[in-house]
Amino acid sequence: MPRKGIALVLSAPSGTGKTTLTKRLLTQFPHFGYSISCTTRSPRAGEQDGRDYHFISVAEFEKRRAEGYFAEWAEVHGNYYGTPLTPVRRMLESGQDLLFDIDVQGAAQLKLTLSDAVFAFILPPSMTELENRLRKRGTDSEETIQRRLENARGELLEARWYDALIVNDDLDLAYDSLRALYLAATLAPSCNPDLLNTVLAR
Ligand code: ADP
Ligand code: 5GP
Repeated sequence: MPRKGIALVLSAPSGTGKTTLTKRLLTQFPHFGYSISCTTRSPRAGEQDGRDYHFISVAEFEKRRAEGYFAEWAEVHGNYYGTPLTPVRRMLESGQDLLFDIDVQGAAQLKLTLSDAVFAFILPPSMTELENRLRKRGTDSEETIQRRLENARGELLEARWYDALIVNDDLDLAYDSLRALYLAATLAPSCNPDLLNTVLAR
């Protein structure tokens, strides 16, 4: 029976393991769509335009923002990030589940526009471990690492209003929690608007 698409919104301080968890979820549930954001930051090694992000200039971002192109946008670590609105609406309406990898400011905007969305905040087990993971990833300069750690403290303070807090200490346990949250969301009445009437009519 067709149901509505689920908007699963994931936020986490950079380096927590959100990309790792997202890849697992997309491997187990390949039907999941992924909201590809626009960003003004430069691609990291291995990142592909149109797959990981749409990499665009500041001028192009500002033009699109003025045209109402974004469902939400934010400035994170000195770069702009935004979620294109039209593909999101189209996919959710057609029953496509969607994963959003966005920061706390963007998530707060989406909570207003997508009332049925499910919001999960991924936490590092400690600030020390977060610093270790940022270093291990090896993609950021020392200055960037320090800025990301500082931002992480502010982001954690915003996590209280999320639907779920998932600590990414043991990766398998964190993944089980994320998967459970997603599967529970598929059972919500708001996600299955025709179910009761269909059963009553049979
Ligand atoms: P994010 O997308 O949140 O910035 P990544 O998924 O890139 O984070 O993970 C940052 C680093 O931490 C990577 O090197 C990744 O392999 C590692 N990592 C992710 N989850 C765990 C975990 N549960 N335990 C130890 N290391 C982890
Ligand atoms: P990164 O540069 O490490 O890929 O992402 C940095 C931060 O930007 C992360 O917290 C990520 O969730 C956030 N981000 C990525 N895309 C978007 C988006 O479209 N909107 C918002 N608000 N944040 C985003």
